[in-house]
Amino acid sequence: MPAVKAGLRQIPAIHRLLDLPVLRDAVAHYGRAPVMEACRGAVARLRERAAAGELPGDAVERAAGELPAVILEALRHSGEPAYRAVVNATGVLLHTNLGRAPLRRDLPSSLRSYLALEYDVAAGRRGQRLAPLAGRIARVCGAESAVMVNNNAAALFLILAAHAGGREVIVSRGQLIEIGGSFRLPDVMAAAGATLREVGCTNRCHLEDYAQAVGERTAAILVAHHSNFRIVGFTAEPALAELAELAHARGLPLVVDQGSGALHDLRRWGLPPEPTVGELLAAGADVVCFSGDKLLGGPQAGLVVGGAEWLRPLARHPLYRALRPDKTALVLMDQVLACHLSGHLEEIPLYAMMALPVEALARRARRLARRLRAAGVPARARSTRAALGGGTTPDETMPSFGLAVPGGQALADALRAAAPPVVARIEDDEVVLDLRTVFAEQDPGLAAALAAAYSGIQANQAGGA
Ligand SMILES: *Cc1c(COP(=O)(O)O)cnc(C)c1O
Repeated sequence: MPAVKAGLRQIPAIHRLLDLPVLRDAVAHYGRAPVMEACRGAVARLRERAAAGELPGDAVERAAGELPAVILEALRHSGEPAYRAVVNATGVLLHTNLGRAPLRRDLPSSLRSYLALEYDVAAGRRGQRLAPLAGRIARVCGAESAVMVNNNAAALFLILAAHAGGREVIVSRGQLIEIGGSFRLPDVMAAAGATLREVGCTNRCHLEDYAQAVGERTAAILVAHHSNFRIVGFTAEPALAELAELAHARGLPLVVDQGSGALHDLRRWGLPPEPTVGELLAAGADVVCFSGDKLLGGPQAGLVVGGAEWLRPLARHPLYRALRPDKTALVLMDQVLACHLSGHLEEIPLYAMMALPVEALARRARRLARRLRAAGVPARARSTRAALGGGTTPDETMPSFGLAVPGGQALADALRAAAPPVVARIEDDEVVLDLRTVFAEQDPGLAAALAAAYSGIQANQAGGA
């Protein structure tokens, strides 16, 4: 095909492209390697299309002329942060894919300088990494002592490795949970070297089932929070206090994977109650572990609280070094614990969002809807239901307010392409944007993104029709 050959000759060599002033500027800005890579990629794609005969006539020459613009666009994308800020309009407060609890904006000064991470300032010598924080974690939870690791999966892993390696852990069949992101309780147990001893049935498990399973090889009784599902109907589970009594009578620890890290009565926010960490300890749990970025509202972390005799071996375990938290998580955890201790929960973004009165959300929604309709977008304010998410209270929601805009998947896609991307949900071919999870200062950006996305789709449809 001589025409194809002729077309291919229109595609410039990489070194010719790099000689262009715009791309020389790009090298100064992005660095030589990224620009080379973008050039190679763009040229290779054009060659492929030309070789496949996709570009008839002088289309190759035209496409070759557009190469610098194509390359600059690719570079602009590669220059974006790897993790982009997004507007969460899903109404799911603890959205695991969107980073669970949002962090506060005021970064503590210790994260902008050197800090006494493992340093006893008064004595001028090496200190313990967890020592400054452990007491504060324990105090918030009403526990004797505390340990912090990277996440709750690591917490459970360390507890089992330190106390149940090579021995059995008794768990009810109704609690063998899987959490999104490949946390499966039986797999964590196996990895930690503990043998799972299942008792009871999926829907019903009695104290007697546990009692019969205790034997010479038993290391602990483990209770795992149902987290992201609910067993309803003909069900039974022994009370935690009964299990604690049984465990202690046999000299075993009762370990609870509480998961969410609930510290306060959720009825304050109109949600059904969930046993708090303090209540579990008061009921007799020896060790309780939970995530730092769920209801605690802090950074990713796994917190373990309970009796000193059970926690001391965790911080001394060789695995602790592999699971220990970094300075960022420790400092941010301290910041969020201070809010829980002082009762200033409104300073934690998660609790500020939970406490927003629905009337305030409705006012914002109506104002946005008015502004959008003036811009030609048929948006209407509507009531919605927001959810805690993150493996907490799976089917309980809280009243909320937001916007509904016709447009379905195409509009949702266009919103995700906005800057910053807006993540919404689709209901009955309408895009629904819940304002409970949108920070008020994001409203103008949200309106602009909606107006642009909506008109873009209208233009597309008009063009395609
Ligand atoms: C969320 C959760 C986990 C996993 O916690 P990560 O911090 O994500 O590792 C484990 N168990 C329960 C019960 C949970 O709710």
